[in-house]
Amino acid sequence: MSRQVIRNGFVVTGDPALGDLPDADVLIEDDVIAEIAPRLDVGEDAEVIDARRRIVMPGMIDSHRHVWQGALRSVCSDGSLVDYVTQIRMHAARFFTAEDMYAVQLHGALEALDAGVTSVTDYCHNLLTPDHAHEAIRGLRESGLRVVWNYGFNYPPQADPTFRSLQDRIAFGRELAKHEFTGRDALVTLGVAPEEAPFAGSSERLAAQFGLARELDARVFWHCNSGGIGGANQRDVAAIAELGALGSDVTLVHMYATDEDEWPMVAEAGAAVAFTPETELQMGMMWPSTRICAELGIPFGIGTDITSNNSADLFAAMRIGLQALRCHHIDGDAEARGPFPLGTPISCADALAWGTRGGARALGLEDRVGSLRPGKQADVVLLRGDSLNMAGWDRSHPARSIVQQARPSDVDTVWVAGEIRKREGRLLGDVGRACSLLEAASERVHARIAESGGIELPLDETMARMQAVTRSEDGKYEFDA
Ligand SMILES: [Zn+2]
Repeated sequence: MSRQVIRNGFVVTGDPALGDLPDADVLIEDDVIAEIAPRLDVGEDAEVIDARRRIVMPGMIDSHRHVWQGALRSVCSDGSLVDYVTQIRMHAARFFTAEDMYAVQLHGALEALDAGVTSVTDYCHNLLTPDHAHEAIRGLRESGLRVVWNYGFNYPPQADPTFRSLQDRIAFGRELAKHEFTGRDALVTLGVAPEEAPFAGSSERLAAQFGLARELDARVFWHCNSGGIGGANQRDVAAIAELGALGSDVTLVHMYATDEDEWPMVAEAGAAVAFTPETELQMGMMWPSTRICAELGIPFGIGTDITSNNSADLFAAMRIGLQALRCHHIDGDAEARGPFPLGTPISCADALAWGTRGGARALGLEDRVGSLRPGKQADVVLLRGDSLNMAGWDRSHPARSIVQQARPSDVDTVWVAGEIRKREGRLLGDVGRACSLLEAASERVHARIAESGGIELPLDETMARMQAVTRSEDGKYEFDA
């Protein structure tokens, strides 16, 4: 058995019963946290990691990320939701090869680990061929990151698609589950991401995709109530509730255009929600509905969504999400708060929970990760408390400095399932190789985009593409890319 003891750290367990322990040890045995207490007597055989002047915290969890967009970094940083959907989802996506997928996935997973993120939901919705899926998974596996990898049903328009029908995609999903995924205890597990409702076009198509997830015992992650651009709310939640497909194994993503009567349906079903503050703010998806989720007891986490827009830094996502929501609620509650208000809505500890415990629930992994507690997986982060931007941090409220001041460069050491992936500020993976691969993939993808006439297409053409994909049925692609 391998044994490691993290000595004399300030342990922020994130576990309501254990709380914060200002000077404690964490014993890791193999992949599991065995004990947390001051001055543990662990014998001679345990490797000792000195955590003085360090905060020991749970590895952070990204509840919604499309890792494949690493090769399109910043392409959409000044874009709206329509720009993003038409330029990337309906256009640039089709220029990725399986080789590109391997590079972006390996690189993106290392980028997560470097920033103290130990678990990610990877909503992989650019699977043009079976090899794209196999290579995407291979890249993730090599990194050592914990991932719920989502088999995505969406696809960009292509002249000659490999998958010619929904049945093709369902059959390949079954094959993947059988050959790539060994069960719930593995580091990389399977989820399913059905098409957004407007793309699916019919409730039969959607039901078949939710049905595959249930058949494979895979959690569902679904972009929903988020595409009603300029129109009425879509009522996606009400629609799947009607189909009998809304359950506690579903994580609903974005949800900005959700009708009031749909929230209790989410609560009743025990479903979770994932918000992505940076893209939602930028793309006019407006305010994450964290307050109503908290009121109704709906579990929720946050994610960074896409590096084609913003960074993969979950500290930044917590911080931006927290401050935006505070401003929104201060504005909305101005009258009730009166002329001399005290305090602010939503605490830093709440925001830290979005990126840890909340994320674990959104991934369906709350019994394994999200907090430090004996019996849970050893997904642990040591954060420097003595860097220029962290020195003097408030010992009474560690979440304040973690959310408001910490950055990826403060992430000192990272464990996933008891394996050290970053030590004393240096990733153990081959960062140079991963960056070269990513650079090369990015150059190739950009060259193919340029060859096709560039990323910006006339609006009428992009809208026509969206329409064409929406109307496609089994075996019939009405659009030639
Ligand atoms: Zn997304």
